[in-house]
Amino acid sequence: MTMDLKQLFEVVGERISLDEALDFSDRTLFGTQPFVTPVQVTGEIANQAGVVVLSMQLSYTMHLTCDRCLDEFERAFSCSWEHLLVAEPLTDDSDTENIEVPDGLLNLDELVWADILLNLPSKLLCREDCKGLCPQCGQNRNHGSCSCTEKTVDPRWAALDELLK
Ligand SMILES: [Zn+2]
Ligand SMILES: [Zn+2]
Repeated sequence: MTMDLKQLFEVVGERISLDEALDFSDRTLFGTQPFVTPVQVTGEIANQAGVVVLSMQLSYTMHLTCDRCLDEFERAFSCSWEHLLVAEPLTDDSDTENIEVPDGLLNLDELVWADILLNLPSKLLCREDCKGLCPQCGQNRNHGSCSCTEKTVDPRWAALDELLK
């Protein structure tokens, strides 16, 4: 979805409220299409004394696969973002993360998509204390224990192993 912000850039005090539902059902992440419901975007874009600031809250649900036990699960995410929008690239301070909006046209989908990617957890777990799979038989330990016994090593053999390394 492209938003025309030309007027907003020109008129100090002007604001636009955001209340969108973006369809990301065809976006691929981790080899699947995880967005089961639209991504809700609320917030506003405001020209505050000539500075255009976009502040928004995102909420969305993803259908994911657990990194540890490979079970599928759904999780709701929410996050808030604030971006400074600039009509032209600023050459003097390249360190700030301004969003360039050439011709006053903002591609909201791409901005939201980038923010969702930034908000991804480094590990996707079905639950904080996921027990994972048994390394020997592959049993999902969240669903029950298996009959494999943990390999215990006699300390004397361990010492010998050390010597043989
Ligand atoms: Zn898991
Ligand atoms: Zn097992």
